[in-house]
Amino acid sequence: MTGPVEPGSTVGVLGGGQLGAMFTVAARRLGYRIAVWDPDPDAPALTIADLPLSRPFEDASAFTVFVGSISVATYEWENVPVSVSEALERQVPVRPASRILKILQNRFEQKSFLSSRGVPVTPFRVASDPEALTEAVAAVGFPCLCKIATQGYDGKGQWRLSDQQSLDGLCRQLRGQKGQWVVEQFLAFEKELSVLVVRAAEGDRRLYPLVENIHEAGILRTTRVPAEVDPRTAEKARTLAGSVVEALEGVGVFCVELFLMPDGRLFVNEVAPRPHNSGHYTLDACTVSQFEQQVRAVCGLPLGEVQLLSPAVMVNLIGDDVNRAGAGEGLAELLRRPGAKLHLYGKKSVRPGRKMGHVTFLAEKPEAAWEAALALRQALRNPDPHEAAP
Ligand code: AMP
Repeated sequence: MTGPVEPGSTVGVLGGGQLGAMFTVAARRLGYRIAVWDPDPDAPALTIADLPLSRPFEDASAFTVFVGSISVATYEWENVPVSVSEALERQVPVRPASRILKILQNRFEQKSFLSSRGVPVTPFRVASDPEALTEAVAAVGFPCLCKIATQGYDGKGQWRLSDQQSLDGLCRQLRGQKGQWVVEQFLAFEKELSVLVVRAAEGDRRLYPLVENIHEAGILRTTRVPAEVDPRTAEKARTLAGSVVEALEGVGVFCVELFLMPDGRLFVNEVAPRPHNSGHYTLDACTVSQFEQQVRAVCGLPLGEVQLLSPAVMVNLIGDDVNRAGAGEGLAELLRRPGAKLHLYGKKSVRPGRKMGHVTFLAEKPEAAWEAALALRQALRNPDPHEAAP
C-alpha cells in the first residue's frame, strides 16, 4: 500500500443496494466522493452517489468511466463478477482483493479454503452436476442441505433434504441443469452467531462484539447484541472469526457467521467480504459503524476503536412489513418510540423476501430492547387488530 487515499478522492463501489447506500453515506461524511456501479437502475445507492453508473457489468465503456474516476474500489456484495474486480485491480487497488472475492463467492471454494486452514466448517461434499448429488448426499447423510455453490443468498437456491424422497424430487427438479452444489450436514445448532472483523492493510484489526441472529426461511430477521452466551464462548467465537480473516489476509470488513452447537462447538457457516445485515446495529449502537470502518480500511485510514454504546436489537423489515411499519400508524408509532431507530432503504418495489428497511431498538438493559423488538415482530404478524381478536 502506497499511503492513504485522502478525503476528496473518489471511491468506487460495485453494487448499489442498501449496503452500498449506507457505505456511501459514511464515505460522504468523511469527505469522499462516491462512484456506484449497479446494473439495476432502481438500486438505492445510485440516487445518492456522486457518479451513478447504471450499466451492465459487461459494458466496456462503463468500465472505462468507472475506473477512470476512482482511486480505490470496493464492493457491497460478493456476487459481483470477479472478472470486473480483476480488471479494476490492474489499475486501482480493490479491497478486499479479487483473490478473496473469488474464494468467498463460491461456497465450495470457501469451505475448502477454510477447512484447509483448520477452520471448523459444517461437514460437506460437492456435486458438480445433479447426477452427483446422490453420491454427495450418501457421504453426508440425512438430514442435509443442498446449496447452490454460487449466487445464492437469503436462503435462495437452498433445499433441505430429509429423506430419499426429497432427494429424488430435487434430482428431478435439477436434471439437465449446469452448476455446482454443496451438500452440507444439517446442524441442530443452539444459536446462530456472527462477528464483524475489520482488518487494515498493515494487519491492524478491530473486532465487534459477538451478536446473535435469528433467521426465518433462510433470511435474517433479528439480531441481538450482545449475544446471550457465556463469556468464554463469546471469546472463542471472536478468536475464531479473527483467525478466519487472518487466514484470508483480508483488508476490509468481514462478517463471519457461526453455528454454536449444544455441546459448545463452533462451526463457521459463511464468511462475507463486506459489511453485513447483522452489523446494521453498529450504525446506532457503536462509536464507529461497520460502514465507516469499511471506508477507513479501504482508504487506508486508521481503523476506529469499537465500543458498544448500548445493548441493541435489530429487526429487519422484509417485504410487506414496510407497508405496516414504514407507513401510516405503524410509522408514527415507531417514530414516537424512544430508542427506536428506523432505516428505510427507499426501494421502489416491494417483493416477498426483499429487505426494505430495519429498525434498531436501543435500551439501557438488553431485555428492554428485546421486548421492544418482540412487540414490533408481534405487530408485524398481526397487522389487523381484528385478526388478533379471540
Ligand atoms: P446460508 O445462506 O448458508 O447462510 O444459510 C441461510 C440460513 O440457513 C442460515 O442462516 C441457517 O439458518 C440455515 N442453515 C444454513 N446452513 C445450515 C446447516 N448446515 N444446518 C442448519 N441450518 C443451516
